[in-house]
Amino acid sequence: MTILEKKMAALEGAEHAVAFSSGMGAVSAAVLSVVRAGDHIVCTSHPYSWTNKLMKRFLPRFGVEVTMVDGTDAANYKNAIKPNTKLLYLESPNSFTFELQDLAAVTAIAKAHNCRTIIDNSFASPLHQNPIKFGVDLVVHSCTKYIGGHSDVMGGVVCGSRDLINSIFNNEFMTLGAVMSPHDAWLFIRGLRTLPVRMERVAASTRKVVEYLEQHPKVEKVLFPFLPSNPQHELAHKQMSNNSGQFSILLKANTLAKADLFCDSLKHFLMAASWGGHESLMFPISAVYASENMKIDLPFNLVRFYIGLEDPEYLIQDLKQALAAL
Ligand SMILES: *Cc1c(COP(=O)(O)O)cnc(C)c1O
Repeated sequence: MTILEKKMAALEGAEHAVAFSSGMGAVSAAVLSVVRAGDHIVCTSHPYSWTNKLMKRFLPRFGVEVTMVDGTDAANYKNAIKPNTKLLYLESPNSFTFELQDLAAVTAIAKAHNCRTIIDNSFASPLHQNPIKFGVDLVVHSCTKYIGGHSDVMGGVVCGSRDLINSIFNNEFMTLGAVMSPHDAWLFIRGLRTLPVRMERVAASTRKVVEYLEQHPKVEKVLFPFLPSNPQHELAHKQMSNNSGQFSILLKANTLAKADLFCDSLKHFLMAASWGGHESLMFPISAVYASENMKIDLPFNLVRFYIGLEDPEYLIQDLKQALAAL
């Protein structure tokens, strides 16, 4: 575990890191290390589903108040700050909509108001974005995704200053018990050895697939910050060195049944919630639209994709036939 922690700290340009048995173990420990009853958090909208639950359902039970803001404008963070605000929470790009927060601007606001900052950096991976450079205090990863790279091991990590990480180690890490096993740490170290080649392949294939989808008449919109047509295109290039494998599309489908038909027609994309492994996946919002368990404020025609290591042409052919079925 120590070797993995040293490697992750080095990749993020952090002094120190502590590894957990899941990404959510890392997110929860990092957040709980900053706040206590009576405090307030400002969090970007549409974070990872279970972070959303932590913020909206769990923390309020312990007297911690959370305001969700549209993070695409840093001023929204500033305007939501109250005298008891202790934490500005970021996830950039965020889940499902892939919106960015301006890391330099939000950390400057945090420093001026004596707040800490935490970012979930899982989507970018430590190869494509290093938030500590921009002044973020704690950087969290779900290692389950890109670091492991094969969808067969779960883990998380928090990177930051020696003082903050030591405090998390001596408090939340041991007390909450989400401790990483030695065997899992070994699998993640092995994953790191191929991370650069996997990320390069994923990034290049994703650009090809996105270009195909953007010009398709049955696709209303592609949500992907690296498209020149995306309003945050410039910011993406400023704070990230490359795109990753996730994006969403809005289908030109006016009924739930049509959105389902497209998703069911895909043959080479497994329908699953995760990403970051070798195989391409998709997650349709239409599938959870009616579920009480996953109340989600996203349109039913939104489909999230993850592009894995397959030949991009093979994936494009599959998308082509599924869109033709629409
Ligand atoms: C999957 C994910 C997590 C949680 O990771 P687990 O290892 O599955 O607990 C946290 N943040 C983001 C952005 C994720 O996609």
